Amino acid sequence: MTVPGTPVPAAAQFTPGVKFDPHAATNAYLATLPADKRAASDAYFEGGYWIGLFDSLVTIALMIVLLKTGLSRGMRNWAERISKRRWIQTFLYFVQFIILTSIIVFPFTVYVGYFREHQYQLSTQNFSQWLGDEAKGLAVSIVLGGLAVTALYAVVRKFPRTWNVWGTVVGVLLATFGILIAPVFIVPLFNKVTPLTQPDLREPILSMARANGIEANDVFVVDASRQSKRISANVSGFGSTMRITLNDNLLNRSSPESIRAVMGHEMGHYVLNHVYKGLLFFSVVIVVMFSFLKWAYGRVLARWGTGWGIRDVGDTAGLPLAVAIFTAFFLVTGPLLTTYTRVTEAEADMFGLNASREPDGFAQAALQLSEYRKLDPSPVEEFLFFDHPSGRARIFASMRWKAEHEADYLPR
Ligand SMILES: [Zn+2]
Repeated sequence: MTVPGTPVPAAAQFTPGVKFDPHAATNAYLATLPADKRAASDAYFEGGYWIGLFDSLVTIALMIVLLKTGLSRGMRNWAERISKRRWIQTFLYFVQFIILTSIIVFPFTVYVGYFREHQYQLSTQNFSQWLGDEAKGLAVSIVLGGLAVTALYAVVRKFPRTWNVWGTVVGVLLATFGILIAPVFIVPLFNKVTPLTQPDLREPILSMARANGIEANDVFVVDASRQSKRISANVSGFGSTMRITLNDNLLNRSSPESIRAVMGHEMGHYVLNHVYKGLLFFSVVIVVMFSFLKWAYGRVLARWGTGWGIRDVGDTAGLPLAVAIFTAFFLVTGPLLTTYTRVTEAEADMFGLNASREPDGFAQAALQLSEYRKLDPSPVEEFLFFDHPSGRARIFASMRWKAEHEADYLPR
């Protein structure tokens, strides 16, 4: 069974004697989305701006409460009574910290993750299924987050003067490890991943992969419909675990030309080495972030540290202070980070258009993505909040590509 695509609007088709105008074609595509859907999409996405801001402010406030009330100190003291080993103390502190903070922000998590998703008809889960996934997510955070925090605190204690540099090295190694194991150990906790079997879809994708130097024998499908209706695909893994996966919503809800266009985009991430370049960029961000943290932490500690019962920078009771500082750091630097990803996404878009030669398929996919991403934001909004190009930007890129390939569409 294949899904027919949205019919190509007249202004996005070649007409003999009429010059193809990519702007008019883009507007014609945008106009195919009904007004009520457009309004819902805008409301959903714009609400996300406020949720992001509120989340950061609540996190900072909560961290200050943990410090001022002595709760953080108390969790550390308990961990020190249980074990004499510092790494076990750090891990035990972190377990209490993450469970306590998850419980406190739980009402907010339920609203954003469950009720709001249902309000916009994006979720396919009932409450207990959702809660089950949340519990698994918490378990993963305890294990992987605990590992990371324990390792980083060990580095801070070993190198009190230069931990920002060594912490970055360890942070990048941990991130690499996380990316390496994610498709093999983490994704299967939440979803089933199976090879794509439909030959009419599979063969053109594998052919496109071979043409672009990707040695792949399988295309993977993840059953994302267990959680939501969102169409998506991704490149995950590192080295030997790296793979391209499409989700079953894309498979079941999009036309074959849209699927090929999206897979071309994902192959762009692969061929352009975005995973490795992303890690390199991430290492620069982390060293800047840790250096800022080191500076700010020292100043705050000198001013209030004794009152909060924090002994030094290697004391886990100061973790809330570190969390508050980097939450503030990411609140301010967020637009630069999203711009980095948005630029790489635009690169993958160009690659995908050239690889798949499906500008209308890609325009249709961009329209479908409007279910959860605003189609036509202002340039300022796009700079501040968009980690992918907007629908308008993507449809325009597609139509610009199409305008230069008129010969492909002429009858022969
Ligand atoms: Zn992408």
